[in-house]
Amino acid sequence: MSKSVRRRMLIAAAVFAVVLTAAANTGVVKKVLSGDIVQFGDTFIARLTGLRAPRLGEPLGREVYEFTLKELESKLVQLATWTTDNTAAGIVHDEQGFPFVLIRYGSYSRDKGFEACFNEVLLKKGYARVDPKYLPDDLKHFLDLEKEAREKGLGIWNTASGASETGPNRPGPASAPETGYSIFDETMVDMPWTDVEKAAKDGAVVLMTTAVIEEHGPHMSCGTDTYFGQLLCKLVRRELAAKGVKAVVAPPFFWGVNSATHVFPGSFAIRPETTKALLGDIFASLKAMGFRRIFIINAHGDGQHKRAVIQAILEALKQPEMDIRYLVSADDVRQLGLTGESPSWVLLHQMPPDKGAKSPDLDIHAGAGETGLMAAYFPDLVDERLARTLPPTKLTRAQIGEWLKDARKATPLGYVGNPAGYDTKEALANIPAWVRMMAEAISDHLARAK
Ligand SMILES: [Zn+2]
Repeated sequence: MSKSVRRRMLIAAAVFAVVLTAAANTGVVKKVLSGDIVQFGDTFIARLTGLRAPRLGEPLGREVYEFTLKELESKLVQLATWTTDNTAAGIVHDEQGFPFVLIRYGSYSRDKGFEACFNEVLLKKGYARVDPKYLPDDLKHFLDLEKEAREKGLGIWNTASGASETGPNRPGPASAPETGYSIFDETMVDMPWTDVEKAAKDGAVVLMTTAVIEEHGPHMSCGTDTYFGQLLCKLVRRELAAKGVKAVVAPPFFWGVNSATHVFPGSFAIRPETTKALLGDIFASLKAMGFRRIFIINAHGDGQHKRAVIQAILEALKQPEMDIRYLVSADDVRQLGLTGESPSWVLLHQMPPDKGAKSPDLDIHAGAGETGLMAAYFPDLVDERLARTLPPTKLTRAQIGEWLKDARKATPLGYVGNPAGYDTKEALANIPAWVRMMAEAISDHLARAK
């Protein structure tokens, strides 16, 4: 049996386990992952049949996500999987392997069952468009619901709001990234200067990533860290906005120290002094614009790079009025020998426990972890087929010195870990938790500082 067939059957078996154990096809929605993707239990993630809702970075994406969240999260619903026949193997999945479901919800009566079909509700409100590629024959009436919403100019069909800028009749690509590929998307770079000035006057905080451009194996973009750091900044900004905290995202700082991977083409090696000096100029510029609080979200594991960033912060803090915080994870604390109490500029937040941490083999660079994140959010920048063929490096913690000394000799393909073992669903489930934690660390800090 091929691997993919076996995987499909495992997924199908998991679907049945959920359905069977959740008496009469009902289950509680554990988490809403996007406008049309929901999670039941710990591992079963499903997509709504016959439609496509805008993703978070797309017009109306946030509104639709919040609507699905309000309607479905933690609620008891009835779910039916779309099957081509009555076997587990006949369950239809999308390109990412998510099985399709029809969800009924709302109040329940003995004769009529659950009150409404959520898939239909989204279409009626103009919160989704029909996905003709995945429309079962018995749901052809979805086309009428879509047409009605379009004629009424609801939701995505409201051209006055500019919400349908992606073209009303063009379904977005199935692998559309969560937030767009432009690294300036949702940053102050895309704002006119007058809005930047107003944000500073309103006391907005600045979020900035300090990721780098470096090789990430033969299967991924050299911009992996930058894209990911930028994504975190964007998502944290939205989470803060929901808490009433105004924030702007600075352009990503993507130059930095690559003490291990600089021996590969595609990696830029910036000296720690240059990194520090450039960051210092950026902090000074932000101060001149009127910003006083800056939060750094790092997305590059190099110890020398992190130290350079922290030194630049310490230097900038010598200027009065500035509050610059580096969001450290438990890993940073270990690596940099930091403590929670001092120095006072360190802001501690806990990342969810890293599964790989228990394994003796490292998965620290372009391995299962990072490949999963990229496959989840930037699928066009990962060669997933190649990733599944790459053997694990099995580099142990004790051998890390060899990698730092000559990465090309220790890991000729440029990754450390097990890219083939990546899990898109796990990444999709983890990121919202990280983002919430970071936003909480920031808002807690702001509350204390007041
Ligand atoms: Zn990386």
